[in-house]
Amino acid sequence: MNTLQSKRCEICNSEMYEGELGEAWWICSNKECSRSNPNWPTEELMKKIQPKYDEIQNKINNLKALIIEKISAEVEIHTARWIADGSGCLKMHDRKIEFYFKEGIVYYFTDNQELITSFKEQNLDEHLLEVWRLTMEQLSLFR
Ligand SMILES: [Zn+2]
Repeated sequence: MNTLQSKRCEICNSEMYEGELGEAWWICSNKECSRSNPNWPTEELMKKIQPKYDEIQNKINNLKALIIEKISAEVEIHTARWIADGSGCLKMHDRKIEFYFKEGIVYYFTDNQELITSFKEQNLDEHLLEVWRLTMEQLSLFR
């Protein structure tokens, strides 16, 4: 604790102390106060973004599951960017097909041309891009 500096809590006006590394910069000394939680900035942010976060999550959930050639499939978008503009995976009962996005086009990691043709006929690209856009929008809430 740095005794040279002191700060008052915006909520309860109690004295605040400096948090440890990885905690809030300032933590309230009043145990009854919400800012006495060492993670209060994250919690306050979560509370603020929760409605929008849930709204986007509902849209994602509605688009995640789909039927391809009478087979149910599930879309998973990778939240870490490791290739091009983003990537993901399509889970169809016995196989997983990875894909990535580049400048609005979807590239599939499969040699099965028939499957790719049926993806294109189903407008799967647009569907996957929409899930990806929503996922990015959701992630941007934390920034
Ligand atoms: Zn306080």
